Amino acid sequence: MLVLKFGGTSVGSVENMINVKNIINDGQKKVVVLSAMSGTTNALVNISEAIKTGQQDTAQTVIDQLKVHYANTINTLLTNKEINAEVTAYVASVFSGVEAQINQPFTALTYNTLVAQGELLSTFIFSRFLMQEGINASLLPALDFMRIDKTNEPDNFYINQNLNRILSENSADIYITQGFICRDAEGNIANLQRGGSDYTATIIGAVLRAEEVQIWTDIDGFHNNDPRFVENTKAISNLSFDESAELAYFGAKILHPQTVMPVSAFDIPVRLKNTMSPNAHGTLITNQVHGEGIKAIAAKDGITAIKIKSARMLLAHGFLKKVFEIFERYETSIDMITTSEIAVSLTIDNTTALNAIVNELKTFAHVEVDDYMSIVCLVGNAIVYHPDTPNLFQILQDVNVRMISYGGSNNNISLLINTSDKVETLKKLQRYVFENNQILV
Ligand code: ADP
Ligand code: ASP
Ligand code: MG
Repeated sequence: MLVLKFGGTSVGSVENMINVKNIINDGQKKVVVLSAMSGTTNALVNISEAIKTGQQDTAQTVIDQLKVHYANTINTLLTNKEINAEVTAYVASVFSGVEAQINQPFTALTYNTLVAQGELLSTFIFSRFLMQEGINASLLPALDFMRIDKTNEPDNFYINQNLNRILSENSADIYITQGFICRDAEGNIANLQRGGSDYTATIIGAVLRAEEVQIWTDIDGFHNNDPRFVENTKAISNLSFDESAELAYFGAKILHPQTVMPVSAFDIPVRLKNTMSPNAHGTLITNQVHGEGIKAIAAKDGITAIKIKSARMLLAHGFLKKVFEIFERYETSIDMITTSEIAVSLTIDNTTALNAIVNELKTFAHVEVDDYMSIVCLVGNAIVYHPDTPNLFQILQDVNVRMISYGGSNNNISLLINTSDKVETLKKLQRYVFENNQILV
């Protein structure tokens, strides 16, 4: 079995939906995971925010814009009258459900229910389009098998039991399902966080022990730097699970941070492909490590740095334990850490418990907090030894680097900078690191 996931742009227009149909219609049995049409989840988040803040008119305006967009899509794509009528009725029922939330009290479940609608819409429309085209497809509701447990991890046992049962009851060549959405341990509608359709695909791929998981998107694979900010980035043909996990965790938007986790244990390859250019090689992610030296750069925003200074740290064992215990108690994970004899600096991205943490640290140390920071992460096999690696330190001449993490592993070097310096840093590193010696294997 193959699992193919198509992202927002890939199903974001009639033209692209036709591209997707052509890609998947090759006679091979497969599960196809779809995101919401591009822009829809953001619009639903805006509707949710407007309801939460009592701006009913704004919520209605955004809903009305979505209704027009969906009516246009359906009327162009679905030329079969009966199918068009069925889908039009379904879409109308979805939007009445959304409108019904406008005057209801807002809860976390309101948000989760609203943002789930995008995938429900795209999969319904697309599966009916396949039927119109005479393709033997079946729509599997993700809410009937995709579930997370109390710790927000996929409940693999439940998913396995239910997905296999549903597959055995539905015979089709192509199974369509929703990415991103799931149920929580209580059975309420939940999701795998923004960008989570990638994760849905690999969770399904792992449960079904798929031959391969393909992530189809709007670019020809994993690039060596962030193409949203840097020109002349290049697609990398091969990455290892570890390299791609590190890059995704540190901000490479092409993959949800947890994407490769479910499949790496089973050595199921992940292939990144471009829906708009299906013949381009893309990127193959496996457990094989190719090449040496810096392979790619990514950046993660929303980082807060905490400097903890204490004269008592001088020669004191147990100091770090005391610090870490506080972060652990508040379930706040630490990304980067550097130490000197009298201070330790570390970074977090979840600031929910920041005040409480700082108050506890202040009982035995002087504490400084800096926000609006970014981590720039350089990844590649054996980069800490590679002769080209020192080139990256030219960045120290241009940018104020607050922390450096070097040697924590052989394949990652991280720099902490102000977010306002991010774009310049990424551009300059592109020049210093990749100008003469591309390692794109
Ligand atoms: P989808 O909707 O298909 O999931 P995303 O927008 O989530 O697509 O991811 C694809 C986008 O990720 C690309 O269009 C690109 O702008 C961005 N991106 C950021 N970093 C990278 C990278 N290193 N390589 C490729 N794309 C990247
Ligand atoms: N539609 C969801 C989002 O925009 C999930 C995804 O696209 O992967 O975040
Ligand atoms: Mg995505």
